[in-house]
Amino acid sequence: MIEYAPNTFALSDDEQEMVDLLKEEMNLANREEVMHLLVKQAIQRVAITCPNCGHYAKRTEENKAECRSCLSVITLSEDIWDANLPVSG
Ligand SMILES: [Zn+2]
Repeated sequence: MIEYAPNTFALSDDEQEMVDLLKEEMNLANREEVMHLLVKQAIQRVAITCPNCGHYAKRTEENKAECRSCLSVITLSEDIWDANLPVSG
């Protein structure tokens, strides 16, 4: 897990205003928490947690994802993400 120290990236004035509004709306303590939460929400739309290795696997189709870490192909069947390890040999 990568941890960014505060202020390693800068927000524009507009963005700070947006983040502050979100902070109030979400009842969070500071801007950093807002960013963490937004990233977590956003990643769920494009990736899933690999059931095999715990890294994030990018969704390639509605019911399919590929893990770049362990190279599993993960498919959604009956609401459960199933990892299929690459067949070798
Ligand atoms: Zn994996």
